[in-house]
Parts: sequence; structure tokens; C-alpha cells
Amino acid sequence: MNSNIDCWRLHETATSESVNPFFVSPTIIIAMSSHPHFTFTNGSTLEAGTIFGIGKNYAAHAREMGGEVPASPMVFLKPPAALLSDGGTVVCPAFSTNLHYEVEMVVVIGEDCVDVSASKAASVIAGYGLGIDMTLRDVQAAAKQDGSPWAVAKGFRTSAPISRIIPASLFSSIPDFDLQLAVNRVTKQQSSTTYMERSVAVLVEYLSAVFTLRKGDCIYTGTPEGVGRVIAGDVVTATMTADAGIAVTVPTLTLSVGIA
Ligand code: MG
Repeated sequence: MNSNIDCWRLHETATSESVNPFFVSPTIIIAMSSHPHFTFTNGSTLEAGTIFGIGKNYAAHAREMGGEVPASPMVFLKPPAALLSDGGTVVCPAFSTNLHYEVEMVVVIGEDCVDVSASKAASVIAGYGLGIDMTLRDVQAAAKQDGSPWAVAKGFRTSAPISRIIPASLFSSIPDFDLQLAVNRVTKQQSSTTYMERSVAVLVEYLSAVFTLRKGDCIYTGTPEGVGRVIAGDVVTATMTADAGIAVTVPTLTLSVGIA
């Protein structure tokens, strides 16, 4: 637990505006240019809904986190406003000192649906993108210890970088992708979605059995091993390549890291 988190806790019971950090600075009203949305490689757009995240979906990553692949999918959420386009800046909140990258393949849902069987999953997918599940590892560790939700650790502003989305119509079935992430041009993560413990089809079946999936929702499908820390000034680049030589151009992500 770092001192800044303690500082926020210290003020949780404060009633005086003079000591409540929420009143230290004037409220900043921002005018967003549009509702958070996905941009497809063909130029079309889709308003973004719920962001589902899947934890520990690669065995090697589960091991590096000191755990195992869970018996049931581990699901967490990020708010749609956490999405960050290519070229953006990931901002580490001042209360965290351990911001991590997690490169992931992202599935965008194209239909409102429930109870989709794995065999029908492809029919509700609008496209595939490259995402980075930015995570405040120190805040997440504290939440795990407390049994608290991961909303802050996983859902803070700018926590969901996302590339342009490749339309699913370009593929005859759910494809696999090679994933690669580098920090300051040094490769840190390199793997393939073929190593996912639960496939995209299985994840769609599970999520649509528990939740109502809506057009514009997306799934960050989990990260392979090699996660690590970035600091202000770092440049993160990520690429995703369609397996089996499928001739589609997958957008890349280039992000800078800043501090709040
Ligand atoms: Mg992740």
C-alpha cells in the first residue's frame, strides 16, 4: 500500500471541504467530442458499451502472477470512457507507482444477445482489435488482499488502449492472432491467441450466459506472459498479426506514458 492510497483513505471520513481532496481543485468539466466508440478499418464506427476483461486466460501469465488458470472465467469490467485511441497517452494516476501493460486481443460484439453457444459465437462478433489492458498492479494487489473489486486498478481513465477494429466479415471463422508488445522498442510480450486457455467462442458462450451482451460491448480476452511496468516517458508499441498468413492489415498501437 503506498502513501498516496493511504492519503485518500485518510480523507474518506472528512467532512470539511478544506481537507477533502475532492474539493482541493475546481471541478473540471470536459467536452468529449463523441461517445466512446470503436473505429473499424473500413471507416465505420460503433458506439462502445461495456468492456469485459478476462483474467488469467494464459497459463504462463497465471503462473507469473503466482496463480493458476481459474476454474471459471475471471471477469472484470472497465467503463467505456476508459478507451484510448492509437497515439494517445496512458496516464498513471498519482496514487499508483506500478503501472503495467498487458497486450490482448479484443473482440467487439456486433449483436444484442444472450445464451450464445460456442458454436454460434462467430455470428455475434463484429470485429477484432488490439488492446492493452493497462493495470495498476499495486492497487490490484491491495484489492486482492482486501477482497475488494478491481474497478480502480483496471478501470481508471486511459486504462483501455484500443486499435482500429478489423471487421469479422474478413474471416471465415474466428481467427487466431500473434501478439507482440514492446517498451521503448524492446520486446516484452510475444505470444499467440492459440495459447488462450478459454477460446473466444467459449468466452462468448460464458459471458452471454451470465450477462446480456449488447452491440458495441467488447472483451479483452486476457494477456500472455511478460507483463511489466512502464513509467512516464516510456513509449509502448503493440502489434497483432493474423495467423496463417491471412491477408488483412492489422492496426498497430503506439502509446506514450504520462503521469497525472
Ligand atoms: Mg488483462
